[in-house]
Amino acid sequence: MDKHFDAVIVGAGPAGTAAAIGLAQQGRSVAIVERSEFPRRKVCGEFTSAINVDLLDQLGVGAEFRAQAGPEVRRVALFAAGDAVEAPMPKGQGTAFGRALGRDILDGLLLDAARAGGVTVFQPWRATKIVAGVERSSVTIELATEQLQLKAPVIVAAHGSWEPGKLPTNLTKINRPHDFLGFKAHFIGGRLPRDLMPLIAFPGGYGGMVWADHDRLSLSFCIRRDALVAARRASSDGSAAEATFNHILRYCPGVAEALRGAELAGPWLAAGPIRPGIRRAYADDIFRVGNVAGESHPIIAEGIAMALQSGWILAAQLGQFDTWDSTARAAAGRAYASVWRNQFATRIRLASVLSGLATSTNGAKLMHLVISRFPVSLSTGARLSGKTKTLPKFTACIVK
Ligand SMILES: Cc1cc2nc3c(=O)[nH]c(=O)nc-3n(C[C@H](O)[C@H](O)[C@H](O)COP(=O)(O)OP(=O)(O)OC[C@H]3O[C@@H](n4cnc5c(N)ncnc54)[C@H](O)[C@@H]3O)c2cc1C
Repeated sequence: MDKHFDAVIVGAGPAGTAAAIGLAQQGRSVAIVERSEFPRRKVCGEFTSAINVDLLDQLGVGAEFRAQAGPEVRRVALFAAGDAVEAPMPKGQGTAFGRALGRDILDGLLLDAARAGGVTVFQPWRATKIVAGVERSSVTIELATEQLQLKAPVIVAAHGSWEPGKLPTNLTKINRPHDFLGFKAHFIGGRLPRDLMPLIAFPGGYGGMVWADHDRLSLSFCIRRDALVAARRASSDGSAAEATFNHILRYCPGVAEALRGAELAGPWLAAGPIRPGIRRAYADDIFRVGNVAGESHPIIAEGIAMALQSGWILAAQLGQFDTWDSTARAAAGRAYASVWRNQFATRIRLASVLSGLATSTNGAKLMHLVISRFPVSLSTGARLSGKTKTLPKFTACIVK
């Protein structure tokens, strides 16, 4: 059966829902397809910098974010071998400090806001095929034995970058020693100061800790595949997550102290390999947002921001056109790609350099030395990573 829309979006993470809400606010008919049932947990540190709260307001979830997110993060720190070093977190414009909200909550709030804004939600349906066409393209979606064709001139890939799949926008599978795998868990009852977000650096990997909603302490980290193999050899515990966790506890006294007496809340999650890099924001007549368009090493905790902002930027660029024929789509694609690079390329490159430093023993020592002599370099790093970079102002056309 065929269903017709102005735009079909694949994936209801922060990138997909931001694009969906932005387009629905212009009066477009929008469908979003999400394969998982919500609420679902996700490998993610869950920190969102303060600069995004204005955008969360425009997306209709700002009040809930303020009501539910964990405490304000006013200080950053480095937890590596040796003593911890701390520095102030730079403030976002207008709003206070960044905070963390579990992805099981945030993604649900955003999808509810999309639904309330008139977006048609197909969940838990999986997109299995995209066929581009001149007037409109077609997305095949499947649920058990059922199949539907969603047709629209605008197709947006917002399905993230970590899962394999058959869509033309899925990344090809990789298996290299230097790939990074991601892990995450929540703890209850840790001793981490409530306003502190440490960056964790350990041989072969990096991570972060932050207080999220409901007194949950979020711990997430990435480790190189080859370092994970070594960590598993050195650990008596079976799972990859636990072996890496033990490796971190052995190496970083700050993490061991922060988690003294804490209890694991729920199972460890694993994902990856992650796919840092800058990709094409518009190609083959498919728009890409969030991790599909480009991804930073999560060492700078900017993935949610980049997802929300890229979805919103795309909606604004498409909003410059009343109707979406192929010429309008190509023009919107060019404009979107250009704003995307200006907004995100620097932080992706910075994150790549930081990740190289943090994961090598000498690099981590150097980082520790520089930061302990000049703690302000932590604040500068946070600023360069985009934590205070505002979105350009857009005026979108209203089709209603
Ligand atoms: C260890 C770690 C820690 C991190 N910590 C932070 C942090 O503290 N702060 C931060 O900002 N970022 C962090 N990130 C990054 C952040 O999690 C991602 O950048 C962000 O989730 C990307 O959002 P997205 O909307 O592009 O994709 P996703 O959040 O991955 O959403 C994609 C959605 O698409 C759905 N989907 C996939 N395929 C299909 C299909 N075929 N059909 C239908 N639906 C589909 C998926 O189910 C999913 O819901 C971290 C990442 C890692 C690995």
